[in-house]
Amino acid sequence: MRYDNSPPSPESGSSISPDRPWYTRRSTLAVTAAVLAPTCLAGWVLTQALAGPGSGDPRAAAAPQPASHAAPGGGDGKAGATASASAAPASPAASGSPLPSGSPLASGSPSAPTAAPNPLAGRTVVIDPGHNTGNFKHSREINRQVDIGTNRKECDTTGTTTNSGYMEAEFTMDVSRRLRTVLEARGVKVLLTHEAGPERPWGPCIDERARIGNEAKADAVVSVHADGVSEGSRGYHIILPANVRGGSADTSKIVGPSRQLGERIAGNFARTTGSGPANYLGSGTGLVVRDDLGGLNLSTRPKVFIECGNMRDAKDAALLASPEWRQKAAQGIADGIVGFLGG
Ligand code: ZN
Repeated sequence: MRYDNSPPSPESGSSISPDRPWYTRRSTLAVTAAVLAPTCLAGWVLTQALAGPGSGDPRAAAAPQPASHAAPGGGDGKAGATASASAAPASPAASGSPLPSGSPLASGSPSAPTAAPNPLAGRTVVIDPGHNTGNFKHSREINRQVDIGTNRKECDTTGTTTNSGYMEAEFTMDVSRRLRTVLEARGVKVLLTHEAGPERPWGPCIDERARIGNEAKADAVVSVHADGVSEGSRGYHIILPANVRGGSADTSKIVGPSRQLGERIAGNFARTTGSGPANYLGSGTGLVVRDDLGGLNLSTRPKVFIECGNMRDAKDAALLASPEWRQKAAQGIADGIVGFLGG
């Protein structure tokens, strides 16, 4: 939901960059491997010729393992298929290179192609499901003021609902869990700021939500929301941190990377969901800069909010309430994060 009536910052005027083709890096690796493999094989042949038959273990002289990628398990089918296609030429056995008879490579030894390190391994993403389904019952706790560096603000808010009562906090939790599943399948370490339930009947407060991302040293943080504005206002938007400094808030180091993260997510979200950028703010870019959100002001890690749609618009609400659409939303956000992380 929106958090106040502040107009979008003029900084929000940049356009959404088309997503950099995610396969660029894979293709480069595949080409490199395809070039290296025959060269190294030639060296192997020479070694074998000089050493004479039967000497040594050919595996010891095998070409350096070419870079083939493990199929991204969590990606959509198209991405997986493309990854397989680009990885295939990296295998010397499949590259059409002349191979010495009886070579372990020619025989398809399982030890020949070894997966390159997953660029997403060891990366940490914190997902922040906006609000909490229990906040309605804990107004005293969530109305407590907390320090957001530049100001003081309520600990948390209830969020909005659709006209039929589907809560934003239910939506954000569902999308966040789907997002976690997709990212974990890609090898990313994922933390949620909360999962509601008995351990977390309300909140966390916005300052704690930011702290969780900071303490995890997250490579990217995404706070998931849906808006609650008037009927006819439709589409998604990404909220980027403004450059703020005050108290414990200093976003100077995250403004740039957060914009990159936001632009990646915006482009991918539009692609997977078919939704357009918000028609009521952001000048059609789907990007808005805000300086009044504690969750952004207090973050020291690249972080954005995404407002996935407008729960108070009947057409958007029908999408937000659809599990199939929420899966597309999660996939788009995940693809944006993965692109940002260089995966
Ligand atoms: Zn919200």
